[in-house]
Amino acid sequence: MVTMATYHNCIDGSWMSSGSGELFENRNPADQREPIGLFQKSDRRDVAQAIDAARRAYARWRLVPAPRRAEILFRAAHLIEARKDLLARDMTREMGKVLAETRGDVQEAIDMTFFMAGEGRRQYGQTVPSELRDKFAMSVRQPLGVSAVITPWNFPMAIPSWKIIPALVCGNTVVFKPATLTPLSAVHFVEILEEAGLPPGVVNLVTGGGEEVGEALTVADDVRVVSFTGSTTVGRMVSQKAAPTFKKVHLEMGGKNVIMIMDDANIELAVEGCLWGGFGTTGQRCTAASRVVVHENVYRSFLDRFVSRAAALRVGDGLEPATDMGPLVSQGQLQTVVRYVEIGRTEGARLVCGGHPLAAGAHANGHFHEPTIFADVSPRMRIAQEEIFGPVVSVIPCRSFDEAIEIGNDVQYGLSASIYTQDVNRAFAAMRDMNTGIFYVNAPTIGAEVHLPFGGTKATGNGHREAGTAALDVFSEWKSVYVDFSGKLQRAQIDTPEM
Ligand code: NAD
Repeated sequence: MVTMATYHNCIDGSWMSSGSGELFENRNPADQREPIGLFQKSDRRDVAQAIDAARRAYARWRLVPAPRRAEILFRAAHLIEARKDLLARDMTREMGKVLAETRGDVQEAIDMTFFMAGEGRRQYGQTVPSELRDKFAMSVRQPLGVSAVITPWNFPMAIPSWKIIPALVCGNTVVFKPATLTPLSAVHFVEILEEAGLPPGVVNLVTGGGEEVGEALTVADDVRVVSFTGSTTVGRMVSQKAAPTFKKVHLEMGGKNVIMIMDDANIELAVEGCLWGGFGTTGQRCTAASRVVVHENVYRSFLDRFVSRAAALRVGDGLEPATDMGPLVSQGQLQTVVRYVEIGRTEGARLVCGGHPLAAGAHANGHFHEPTIFADVSPRMRIAQEEIFGPVVSVIPCRSFDEAIEIGNDVQYGLSASIYTQDVNRAFAAMRDMNTGIFYVNAPTIGAEVHLPFGGTKATGNGHREAGTAALDVFSEWKSVYVDFSGKLQRAQIDTPEM
């Protein structure tokens, strides 16, 4: 019998079992025979305990000068860097993406932690002239209190770092609920923060299901901000459940991102971009290029090359150096892909590559699927509208630049878009007219850098951004401060201010 390691919640600086003592099990999606571990199946009582710890820790943490908080974060960044290989390997074992990508995921956490730690010495406010003599006027950032961080499984360390690190540098404390498919990376991340010197209760980890742990965080009075990344369906529920307590809600949700290829594009470059954008992370990126809109003049030559390159991608265990594309994260995700392939066929799209799960030989024990391309897709088909979150790309023909923009925008989501063209005028016009939060020229829809804002419009986001200094706006609020040093009553907001 294979024994499994048991991992714990971290509450108030102690690693502990959930109140119920119940556990859930995780296994390697590339080989279900390999156990990853047993994790705490927490419930509302554990969440209440973690919120209470975070609330008490907040009283002290908010008063630690931001540059001192940042020193702990700099140490954490160095620790993540030192363990990058181990962290990446465990991440590949737990969620399947290839090692080069899990190393990239960990690198994003390193970059974000260094970048945000630098904000410990900035967090600029404004000083402005006062209307009155002998008075100063300024604005300062203030932390919010207890922050709930709810994350998906596709970026198990990068996305938590995008939320937890800015929350901390602003002076908030955190209750972190990772996806049930990737709790091991979350445990590693919190262990490192603890080792870097974070005081007990400042970051608390509670593993378990969305309806138990996630919802309890969303409705709690003492939680003042919830930062959620996940599906649009769950994000909508989080928004509704959080409303009665007037907490700040930051939502990063689904995507149906488009690459537009114009008739003057460098086709080789566009093919490379579509391969990486469509099949990187097995298509399980919020920014994945799941739609490719191609000008009719280059449609055939693009499609032939794209299909032959996609068909040659090697699907397998992400730990194997030769693997181009790993498994889907779970059996459920694989079933979703199978279902959408069937929907695409039924809708009359032309299946030109892949279309089947892989279950023989080296694939027998994992959740593998072929890279799949549908051609001649019409823009309103479900496969061109709905987020599949798997290795399925819809290729849609268009007759003009204007039509490409129209098709590109005609989805409920608005995360990322890209254009391949040699014409600078078209590139800028597309940048202006695509209703997305992120835009690329001659590059795929993926590859965000941590020092620029990240997020989407429409059903992808609710107006906030993470990463960049924009993240500080999620985890702080402004206080305006007036300092009167006249020693007498000076009256503002009257018709005849003193001169
Ligand atoms: P999901 O919505 O199923 O789950 C996200 C998180 O919410 C998980 O931790 C889950 O346990 C929790 N949750 C589930 N039900 C909840 C509830 N009722 N209340 C509170 N929390 C609850 O998403 P997923 O399958 O983990 O991730 C895939 C989705 O995430 C895709 O739609 C993808 O586009 C999106 N995503 C978006 C971004 C972005 O930045 N826009 C980035 C990565 C992933």
